[in-house]
Amino acid sequence: MLKNKKNNWEQKLTPKQYKVLRKKETEPPFSGKLLYNKKKGVYACAGCGQKLFSSKTKFDSGSGWPSFFKALKNKVVLKPDHSHGMERTEVICSNCGSHLGHLFPDGPQPTGQRYCINSAALKFKSKSK
Ligand code: FE
Repeated sequence: MLKNKKNNWEQKLTPKQYKVLRKKETEPPFSGKLLYNKKKGVYACAGCGQKLFSSKTKFDSGSGWPSFFKALKNKVVLKPDHSHGMERTEVICSNCGSHLGHLFPDGPQPTGQRYCINSAALKFKSKSK
């Protein structure tokens, strides 16, 4: 009998992570566990572990999703996203191509940018560990 063969991503990720990272879904606002995380450390891609954002660039945007004003250099790729009748900029992990969230031009200084990232797309690595 053939085994029920799921692809690697589905095996590796939780259903919630899979929907966000691989199906580009957006988690409900204020639902993610990293939204109010204020610890020092690095936020990595939940798909491949590549470091993406420093806690130094995290801020409370009030949007309901973890927000950063800057990404680590060359760790994310930006792509025009015309889905859902909106003109947005998609944020993708440069290593594994997973969907992370969107970039908006309404962030705080010094960049004026807001990386609006799904909590389910991130894994937090505390500095003390
Ligand atoms: Fe990745």
